[in-house]
Amino acid sequence: MGDTKKVQKSIDRLERQLARANHAEWMCNSEHEAEQRNDLDIASYSFVGEQRVHFNDLAKLAPVPVTLRKLGELHAPPTATGSSNNKMIEVAITGNEAEEISVLFHEWTHVELRHYNDNKKFVDMVSDHYGGMSMIVELVLATSQEFDTLRRGHELLAESTSYVLCDYFGIASPRKYGYLAGYGISDANIKDFAGDISDAALKIINKIEAAHLVQAA
Ligand SMILES: [Zn+2]
Repeated sequence: MGDTKKVQKSIDRLERQLARANHAEWMCNSEHEAEQRNDLDIASYSFVGEQRVHFNDLAKLAPVPVTLRKLGELHAPPTATGSSNNKMIEVAITGNEAEEISVLFHEWTHVELRHYNDNKKFVDMVSDHYGGMSMIVELVLATSQEFDTLRRGHELLAESTSYVLCDYFGIASPRKYGYLAGYGISDANIKDFAGDISDAALKIINKIEAAHLVQAA
């Protein structure tokens, strides 16, 4: 079974790292802007330890099929490194396994927590209108006021859970705070979501550990 205390330590570490990050850099209001701000010197997540799991093994355990695609060829905006719905996960090939795993964990969390079922009425509505193109759906949803609050919560949960999972399994993810910043996340929000992050992380950790593919620390 997943180590609850270790998960809580990772959440605490995320809180501390976010608190240290320069909040002035966070004054952006869209994911796109946040991605651009990744170029700025916003402190990146940092982990110590040895990588104990690998992408191909993890992909087999994900609740939906996982496909690696060239950057720009995902069913998502061109700069996106990951994409998912309730039937599939796509991860962009970056040549950095740690980064690819961190993206997989992010998308896996969305699927595991049934975020796409929560979103279903919006997705169906917009998807019908645009002939089922998930890329367009994402873009339209991202601008929908009604959808905004829901999505922010989902993204916070997905990205924070990815952080915790990477920390747990010793994966040196190069992902940046800019992504969370794009959803208006502050360190105070992380505290509010700590229980949900822990539950999500432990669900996935238990699956991975049950499959006995984790190398000893
Ligand atoms: Zn997401």
